[in-house]
Amino acid sequence: MNSTPTCDNCGGPTINVQQGRSIGRQCPTCGWSLFSTYTSPILLDTNTYTVRLVDADPRNASLVRLVAGLAGCNYLSARAMLLSNSEPLLRANAERTLAAIKQLRELHVRYLVEPDFPHAL
Ligand SMILES: [Zn+2]
Repeated sequence: MNSTPTCDNCGGPTINVQQGRSIGRQCPTCGWSLFSTYTSPILLDTNTYTVRLVDADPRNASLVRLVAGLAGCNYLSARAMLLSNSEPLLRANAERTLAAIKQLRELHVRYLVEPDFPHAL
């Protein structure tokens, strides 16, 4: 196998390029290019994850605001959610779950994710 990528059209050396979610090779000599869509594993993950808070403090204003943002409700409803703590914080796909987990970690809030969350934080 030739390890140096070459142009399928003219055989010249190609360069790697990335545009948004596409990665590919391009030939500066003749303009040939080959792109494929770059898809991260998290976007291929079709699981729905449930995030629950553990020992969440309803007096933590930053947490209440975060919950309000995630649940799409107002501050008082979010605090009521924390007080009862019966509902999961979030049921969402991997991408949204990851975003939520990152914010919870910033606030040093304990949480549980079901099923186990396989993606790097
Ligand atoms: Zn070429």
